[in-house]
Amino acid sequence: MGGRGTCPNREADGSGGCLYCDALGSASDDLRLDEPLKKQIRERFIPGAKQIIYFQPFTATYGDEEALPARFEEALNWEGIVGLALGTRPDCISERMWGILADLNRRTHLELELGLQSAHDATLRFIHRGHTVKDFEKAARKAASLGIRVITHIIAGLPGEGKHQLLDTIHYLNALPIHGLKLHPLHVMKSSPMARLYGVCAMTEGGEVLRAEGAPHLNILTRDRYVEWAVEALAALREDIVVYRITGERRTPDFLGPRWLLKKSDYLHRIRAGLKECEILLD
Ligand code: SF4
Repeated sequence: MGGRGTCPNREADGSGGCLYCDALGSASDDLRLDEPLKKQIRERFIPGAKQIIYFQPFTATYGDEEALPARFEEALNWEGIVGLALGTRPDCISERMWGILADLNRRTHLELELGLQSAHDATLRFIHRGHTVKDFEKAARKAASLGIRVITHIIAGLPGEGKHQLLDTIHYLNALPIHGLKLHPLHVMKSSPMARLYGVCAMTEGGEVLRAEGAPHLNILTRDRYVEWAVEALAALREDIVVYRITGERRTPDFLGPRWLLKKSDYLHRIRAGLKECEILLD
């Protein structure tokens, strides 16, 4: 669920932000950002099911701190909603918001999704994350001290990063009180600053090396390379960390690939086979 919000990392007119972020704040394709929350819930709710409401695009803890809790409560009041998942940034939770989250956590199943993307400060600087690795760690530890589950979001194949940097990020997270992980390969959105910087204007296939003056090379991952990295990353992940996702693609005209991401069952099958081979996955 979500609204046409914003995030402290973007300009007032919506420009800027993380290098890979698109015009809709990384919202999932089927979100209707202008619709009232009630309508969004009604359209997605499966009668009789127990569901967790996920506030995802932009930054869910950023904005009017009077209005935000009212939205969370509105969602929780819906019969069958058993929890909340809030996607946010590690540097965007005020003391007051921590109090609100702690209270929610006492009353419902709360998941706090904190974007890290990489455990390398040089990468975070280059992609304009606007926070440091330390900021992430501080927020993750604070959440854990309040008993709040932290789900961390990271990206494979950021500019200048290879498998080694991805595995560093996994090892870094293994030492923190993290409950869950979301991993996906970098994809390019036409409306992102990254597409402009590297001059991407048509669908990429994977395997291209893109260059921009003064910037690290952007190696668009091939399917096989991502499968290899994902299997190694999951094999290195601490056993109790729950894997929430291992992919991410978009099906809108703004999506510029890599194209193989659209064949989800194909590469998920390969990742599964790789995990079975190294006995991480038994069935
Ligand atoms: S923090 Fe999220 S919404 Fe904000 S610019 Fe980065 S990816 Fe976009």
